[in-house]
Amino acid sequence: MADDATAAVARKTGPFSFWTNLKLWQQILIALVAGLVVGAIWGPGAENIKPIGTVFISLIKMLIVPLVFSSLVVGVCSIEDTKKMGRIGAKSLGLYLITTAIAIAIGLIVGIVLQPGAGIDMAAAVAATPKESPGFIATLVGIVPKNPVGAMSSGNILQIIVFAVLLGIAMNLAGERAAPVKAVFESFAEIMYKLTHIVMLLAPYGVFALMAWVAGKYGMDVLLPLAKVIIGVYLACILHVLLVLTGGGIMLMGRLNPVRYLRGIIDAQAVAFTTTSSSGTLPVTISCARENLGVSKPVSSFVLPLGATINMDGTALYQGVAALFVAQAFGISLGAGDYVTIILTSTLASIGTAGVPGAGLIMLSLVLTSVGLPLEGLAIIAGIDRILDMARTTVNVTGDLMVSVLVGKSEGELDLETYNKVAVV
Ligand code: ASP
Repeated sequence: MADDATAAVARKTGPFSFWTNLKLWQQILIALVAGLVVGAIWGPGAENIKPIGTVFISLIKMLIVPLVFSSLVVGVCSIEDTKKMGRIGAKSLGLYLITTAIAIAIGLIVGIVLQPGAGIDMAAAVAATPKESPGFIATLVGIVPKNPVGAMSSGNILQIIVFAVLLGIAMNLAGERAAPVKAVFESFAEIMYKLTHIVMLLAPYGVFALMAWVAGKYGMDVLLPLAKVIIGVYLACILHVLLVLTGGGIMLMGRLNPVRYLRGIIDAQAVAFTTTSSSGTLPVTISCARENLGVSKPVSSFVLPLGATINMDGTALYQGVAALFVAQAFGISLGAGDYVTIILTSTLASIGTAGVPGAGLIMLSLVLTSVGLPLEGLAIIAGIDRILDMARTTVNVTGDLMVSVLVGKSEGELDLETYNKVAVV
């Protein structure tokens, strides 16, 4: 504490006091806008500073496996009541599915109203060669790890979750004899949180570099013809966050202050927006949930890694808009049955989508195929996918955090004092 106070005084008088006195989220937002401006002026040359962003992403990725694994084992161990564990799992899954289905519906409505594909000349499209997407059953069967070390080295989050949950349950069953290992995991998890904080201090610089690169790469020439798709996806994302996640979820169901929620998650949103990976954002998501929103360790360490892997509201609504875009661009009309099929396959596809950059585009092939839409449509979308990915990943992370707050509150695992401490201005 004394050290912090000394540091604060030192910061106030330093040569960069304007910058260092800002809160982290303020620094990140400034970096985001500054990156956009610099990239727009610099153009493709902004690629030169991309390595700073790449280092930042690598640092966050470095944290994922050890952080998720240790905090999940500790989380499961601390819920000795297996019934409670099952309840938390069931509530999370239920909320994940409902919000995802609503997200697609919003995407479809925006797609119908805005008509993003009207007037697009599909003949200009390069033939698309979409990558194979894994089947749904294969994904389900594949969540049990044959080799937990292999799962960790390849960063397979679902397999890591399964192993960590089983290990935590077994540790509880072993009782006193597991106490030393439990203490090691607890201590290790704390170290990983500290490391997350250290890495986050670099976030403004990483965010700046990534934004400059994106803005430099996509000039107006690329953006204008597809402006309607971009506007459609961003509009659907904003509607979903404001009406469903914040309005419906946090305010109505949770009876909590929505502004505090949005302020508390801003770091995670900024990192999601610039890295386009909800798995990559996970360490920051977990720290926002715990430190700003007051979600308990057991709930956050279980609900959030699960959400980062299977809950993708943004991806789902993007698939709705994109499917309609392709249908309109090819002049194919869809019937009521097609819309139901899109809702079902998009929900499944978003569950199967990995929380990594561009994964949603690959899964889009599944949705298009399910209603017989031409895969060539992917080629056009692919050109602007990064920009769409930024919005959908931000929504994906916002949805995970909303569910962690609601589940936490309903289980008495939300510290309201912490939640209400978040400043609203
Ligand atoms: N990039 C997204 C995520 O990590 C997934 C997607 O491509 O839709 O959440």
